[in-house]
Amino acid sequence: MRPDRSRFALGLDLGGTKVEACLVDGSRRVLARKRRPSEPGLGRERVVANVLELVAETAGGAPFEAVGMGAPGTYSAAADIMYGAPHTPLYEKPGLVSLLRSRLGAPLVVENDANCLALAEFFAQCHGRYSTVMAVILGTGMGSGLILGNRLHRGPNGNAGEIGHVSIDIDGRPCECGRRGCGEAYLSGPSLGRRYAERTGETLAPDRVFERFRAGDADARAVLDESCRIMGELFANCVNAFDLEAIVLGGGVSNIPLWYERVPPVMNKALFGVPGRDIPVLKAVLGDSAGVLGAAYLALREMRLMQF
Ligand SMILES: [Zn+2]
Repeated sequence: MRPDRSRFALGLDLGGTKVEACLVDGSRRVLARKRRPSEPGLGRERVVANVLELVAETAGGAPFEAVGMGAPGTYSAAADIMYGAPHTPLYEKPGLVSLLRSRLGAPLVVENDANCLALAEFFAQCHGRYSTVMAVILGTGMGSGLILGNRLHRGPNGNAGEIGHVSIDIDGRPCECGRRGCGEAYLSGPSLGRRYAERTGETLAPDRVFERFRAGDADARAVLDESCRIMGELFANCVNAFDLEAIVLGGGVSNIPLWYERVPPVMNKALFGVPGRDIPVLKAVLGDSAGVLGAAYLALREMRLMQF
């Protein structure tokens, strides 16, 4: 597969508040990147108009051959719905993707946004070194994308990698999904904040809880100590299930340095089977551009310029 700088693809990252686009060439070079509000509250036509204007602006006349789009939840082509995007009701109604597809003038591939992040981070820091990797997004929720044997593993429904709803305690904290003890109920940004608030009456963002930890605050220490143990056990469950070689951590809560020092020892101690493994937890390197870049890779795969 030879990189080709004369062919172009577009990546889109459709979120609840903004949509982002990037233009790449066949050698994966990013040529332009832009964003604007997505405005789902104003209806389907408005979202599609916003996306199309952004696409035209970002492409700048380049003849892109395919478009990849990352979106919250799991897109079902049969129902034309993104399941599991509860914060954006419009995306859970049928019709948005098919309308966009009919107006784009190029093939459109839709994928879960965590899978897009996983793809981009995999090619940025794992490809050639590790073949079997899980990339976790920890922010307002907790999701992940799985690359198994150098292939993106979506599952038959595109629903694989919902690590945020793997339970580590059947009698544990209630989760928004209706179950108890899910990873998301402890480790998402809002959950971390809530656990600190239950001890202190003060609601803080995760970064601030970490600042308190560094300043010697006992409640912050208790919350983050427990979080490292929970994350380590949860990641060990995933390594045991998929024989992962590395875990990449991204999203707003991934900036806490503690995760990279304290989670791997807990995880590696909890592994079953082959001894002596030292699985790393790697910090995502692409920042908030990972999603849109991974979406562009979907388009490059559609054009047979990438394989995964
Ligand atoms: Zn859950």
